[in-house]
Amino acid sequence: MDEEAAPERDKNGPKFHCLPHSTQGSARMGTRKKVHTFVRVKPTDDFAHEMIKYGDDNKSIDIHLKKDTRRGVVNNQQTDWSFKLDGVLHNASQDLVYETVAKDVVAQALDGYNGTIMCYGQTGAGKTYTMTGTTENYKHRGILPRALQQGETNRIIASHTMNKNSSRSHCIFTIYVEAHSRTLSDEKYITSKINLVDLAGSERLGKSGSEGRVLKEATYINKSLSFLEQAIVALGDQKREHIPFRQCKLTHALKDSLGGNCNMVLLTNIYGEAAQLEETLSSLRFASRMKLVTTEPAINEKYDAERMVKNLEKELALLKQELAIHDSLANRTLVNYDPMDEIQIAEINSQVRRYLEGTLDEIDIINLRQIQEVFNQFRVVLSQQEQEVESALRRKYTLIDKNDFAAISAVQKAGLVDVDGHLVGEPDGQGFGLGVTPFSAKPGKKSKSKKTFKEQLSSSARKEGASSPVSGKELDVSTSKTQLTPSSKEGDVKDMTIRERETSSIEPLPSDSPKEELRPPRPSTPPPKPVAFEDFKNERGSEINRIFKENKSILNERRKRASETTQRINAIKREMDVTKEALNFQKSLREKQGEYENKGLMIIDEEEFLLILKLKDLKKQYRTEYQDLRDLRAEIQYCQHLVDQCRHRLLTEFDIWYNESFFIPEDLQVALKPGGSIRPGMVPVSRIMSLGEDAQDKFSQLQQVLLPEGPDSVAFYNAKVKTEQKHNYLKTMMGLQQAHRK
Ligand code: ADP
Ligand code: MG
Repeated sequence: MDEEAAPERDKNGPKFHCLPHSTQGSARMGTRKKVHTFVRVKPTDDFAHEMIKYGDDNKSIDIHLKKDTRRGVVNNQQTDWSFKLDGVLHNASQDLVYETVAKDVVAQALDGYNGTIMCYGQTGAGKTYTMTGTTENYKHRGILPRALQQGETNRIIASHTMNKNSSRSHCIFTIYVEAHSRTLSDEKYITSKINLVDLAGSERLGKSGSEGRVLKEATYINKSLSFLEQAIVALGDQKREHIPFRQCKLTHALKDSLGGNCNMVLLTNIYGEAAQLEETLSSLRFASRMKLVTTEPAINEKYDAERMVKNLEKELALLKQELAIHDSLANRTLVNYDPMDEIQIAEINSQVRRYLEGTLDEIDIINLRQIQEVFNQFRVVLSQQEQEVESALRRKYTLIDKNDFAAISAVQKAGLVDVDGHLVGEPDGQGFGLGVTPFSAKPGKKSKSKKTFKEQLSSSARKEGASSPVSGKELDVSTSKTQLTPSSKEGDVKDMTIRERETSSIEPLPSDSPKEELRPPRPSTPPPKPVAFEDFKNERGSEINRIFKENKSILNERRKRASETTQRINAIKREMDVTKEALNFQKSLREKQGEYENKGLMIIDEEEFLLILKLKDLKKQYRTEYQDLRDLRAEIQYCQHLVDQCRHRLLTEFDIWYNESFFIPEDLQVALKPGGSIRPGMVPVSRIMSLGEDAQDKFSQLQQVLLPEGPDSVAFYNAKVKTEQKHNYLKTMMGLQQAHRK
């Protein structure tokens, strides 16, 4: 027989080696797949060549039935059938069958896709042989042991393969797969199962009956196969929504293995003998119905929460290590990244408070957590302060809603508010803004203006190595004082000259003042800045210094006046209170004695009348003084602005003068002078000497920390400063020379 003679061709022919392309690789969710159908023909010496023909592509099988001569001339009975399948396995070895039918399904199961392989056919056609194989011969082992082998779970083969199953029962092997990543780092894992189904014999009733029944539908011997058939027909019908899975145990058990998200293969086992043609036809019909069923394979992915936590912990530990390394490289060895405890938070709170008070200049940045906590504590302190202010106000005053007109008129009646609606101040002069210090004199502002000044002077003074207290005291103008407590200790106040001149702006000073020409030759080492500053004020800075002093004295005079006015207002207020009290006393006296009324007019005695007059007069005085005070305040604010401007100008001019006098070479100065090749303003002189500021800043910061701790380091410090100055000078010169050439 040719079929028998050419087993090698079938074995190695590429046609059977793989499942059609779409089933290979990763079938993603959403791609619908058909059930793959194969036919395996049991080898026999009695092969019905006349009746069974294979297509050239080995994907079809044609059945030809010899005409029933007994039926007479008119015979329209069908005699030819052609079945298209995914492959016909004829004389195929167990190896080839596994390769063709099962290998990809198993491989995909290991990737998380469920798979089902079913053997269908009449008893004796080779279902069990295909599925389980023979136990005696390793070569003849079937799909199940091979699948276990492919899944590397060899050891449980024996116990399963021994199970004998009757031809009248179904046998379902289920292999459960749970695959975790080998690297143990992936918290994702997949689960899947492979159902290997060895169905009961599919032979029909009445096979032994007359040939006339061949083409009629007969019932399965095993009822559950007919339910399986119904379920499969329903699955093949895209319009059907309900699939009758629950009709019998078989369909119920295969509920999630038929169609659905499975890779599904049906292998139909047939005889190749003429005598079995009837059942063969029936089996092939079942196969072609099965072909219509589609499935939608999808991965069963799960997350291992425990492993996920472990992985995150691992990563956290790793990042902490990384951070530690980073810190040690950046010399930040003491940084701690753990969450803050109460003590640390309290410390930050105190830092924030000190910062707000002005006693702490800056809060060092340590890490992100700390920055966040600093902001947090700012909010805490702010809301606490708000509450404190409010409760302080409440303790002292009765607060009235401005929109509550009834309350306001009640208060007006009671004399707590004057006619203009101004609240009457407290006797001690601290309430209602009467004795309040001007804004510029408040602590926050004070420290700020002080700092700006210090920054300018002390940074340059430090470069000088001046350890003596800077002459800042002289310059430390009265901004730190309130006008209510003018201090006699303050030099500025003492030597002030009272002038009514209002300086709106400071005229630019001539850069070449006559005094400059008289300047002695430049010394080899520049004098300390405090000393130089005194010189400066006597020569080039004399005019600006004069204006500065003048403005200061005007400012102080205004402050003094404001203070006096405040005191007067407070005195008036006190008297008003006394008068009011007396008035109330008179009123209550009158009420006790019984009021006299005449046609609705209230009759009061003279004493009460006088008191009312006095109160009226006092209120008038109060208003006048109050207006004066307001005007004074505006003036003070304006003067303060001028003084600040002057101070800034004085210091800037001084810096320029100092650099010109002791650092910038004379020839360069010529270039910088008006008419020179470099216009003033093109190169800010204050900048010229401070190129390479970053390094300098860093060093200054370092000094702030180290100098007070180790006075010995002063020598080193001075040397370092000198080197740096030289360096800066060279750098500046080179820059300027280049600019010159252009
Ligand atoms: P089924 O399970 O369909 O009733 P079996 O698998 O028990 O049929 O097969 C019946 C007999 O035929 C067994 O002895 C089996 O070894 C043999 N047989 C079936 N198919 C083949 C085959 N392809 N090659 C060799 N022997 C086979
Ligand atoms: Mg069997």
